[in-house]
Amino acid sequence: MTRLLSAWLTKPHVIQVLDALGVGYFVGGCVRNALLDGEDTDIDIATPLLPDEVIRRLRFAGIQVVPTGLAHGTVTAITEGGTLEITTFRADVSTDGRRATVAFSDNIALDAARRDFTMNAIYADRQGNVIDPLDGLSDLQERRVRFIGCPSARIREDFLRILRFFRFHAWYGGPDVDAEGLAACAELADGLDTLARERVGWEFRKLLSAVDPAPAVASMEVSGVLLRCLPGANAGSLATLVHLEDLLEVPIDWRTRLLALGKSDWSKQLRLSRGEQQHLAAVVQAIELGDAVMTAYHSGYDVAASAVLISAAGGAEMPPGNWRAELLEAAAAEFPLAAQDLIDAGWEPGPKLGEALREAETTWIGSGFRSDRAELLRSLSDQGNRPV
Ligand code: ATP
Ligand code: MG
Repeated sequence: MTRLLSAWLTKPHVIQVLDALGVGYFVGGCVRNALLDGEDTDIDIATPLLPDEVIRRLRFAGIQVVPTGLAHGTVTAITEGGTLEITTFRADVSTDGRRATVAFSDNIALDAARRDFTMNAIYADRQGNVIDPLDGLSDLQERRVRFIGCPSARIREDFLRILRFFRFHAWYGGPDVDAEGLAACAELADGLDTLARERVGWEFRKLLSAVDPAPAVASMEVSGVLLRCLPGANAGSLATLVHLEDLLEVPIDWRTRLLALGKSDWSKQLRLSRGEQQHLAAVVQAIELGDAVMTAYHSGYDVAASAVLISAAGGAEMPPGNWRAELLEAAAAEFPLAAQDLIDAGWEPGPKLGEALREAETTWIGSGFRSDRAELLRSLSDQGNRPV
C-alpha cells in the first residue's frame, strides 16, 4: 500500500480538524503533490458527513467555521495553524455546463467519479494511507492527465475543465497530452464562451505560472482553445521565452508570458485587476519605446525586464550581455537635482526652472546616471541657461 509521508499530515491543526470530524480524507492537490514530492498546496478534506454535521462537529471542538460554499457542500475550518476546506462526498446529478447541481453521498467511489482527472481523485486517510478508487496513481506516475469517464461528457458538465485539462497538463503532464482529452477540448472549445471571464483569468494565471507551460499552450493553440479565450493570440514565441528565462535564470512571471502570446490588453478577456492591467500596459508601451534603460528608470525593473525578454523572445535573440545590471542601476537611480537646488543657485520658480530641470535630467540619463549635482548645474549654465 502506498503511504504519504508529508510533514503536513502531522501538523497540529490538521490533526485537530480531523479529530473533530472523526471521519475525513485528504484529497485533490495535497495528495497529488505529496505523491509527486511537489510543492505543498492547500489541504482539501472530503468527508461522508453532511455539511450541517461538519459544522456542528467543528464548532463543538471550538474550531471556527465559515460556510464558504455550503450549496456544494464546502465549509472552511479556520485555525491558528491555517485553514482547511472540508467538502461532503458528492455525486453530481445534473449540470448546465457551468454549475453542477449536487447531491451529497456517503460513498467515496461516487465522490471520486465526479472529480475531473484521475490524478485529482486520489485520497489519503489520516495516517497517509492512499485510497485510489479510480487508479489515479498509475496515471500520476506516468504523468497522464486523464479525464474521469468520457471526456466530452465531462466537459459538457463544466467547460472550465477544458482549461483545467491544459493547466494540469502544464504542471503535471508528461511529454504527450492525452489524445482523447485533447480531441474533446477541441470539439467543445465553443463552450468556453459561457464561462465567467474571471474564472478564465485564474486558470491562465495558474497555467502560465507552470515551469514550462509552452507545450500545453501549443496544444491549446492547435485545439482552438487559445484563440477562443484570447482572440489574436499565438503561442509562437512562448517556448523561446521560457528557454530564455531558464538560460538567464529569471524568475517566472505569468504576466510576461501572457504578453509573449500577444502584446495586447487582455484585461477584458481575463478580468485582470487594475494593477495587472497597468503593468501589462506599461510593458507594451516599453516594448514600443524600445529603450529599456529609460523604462527601468521611469517604470521600474520589472516592467523593463519583461519588455527586454519579450522582445528578445520575439526576435529569437539573446538580450545584450549586461542588461540586468544596467536595468537595475537605472531603476535604482535617483536624479540628484531638485527644484530647490536651482532656486538656491538663483533661479526664479516658474516654467523656465521646470524646463531646465528636465533638460538636466536628460543630460544626467545620457551620462549613464553618473553626473552629480554640481556637474549638472554647471552644464545648465554652459548651455546658456541662466538664472532669471
Ligand atoms: P491546486 O494545487 O491548484 O489547488 P487542486 O487539484 O487542489 O490543485 P482545486 O481547484 O483546489 O485543485 O480543486 C480540488 C479538487 O476538487 C481537485 O483536485 C478535483 O478533484 C476537484 N475539482 C475541482 N474543480 C473541479 C471541476 N471543475 N470539476 C471536477 N472536479 C473538480
Ligand atoms: Mg486545491
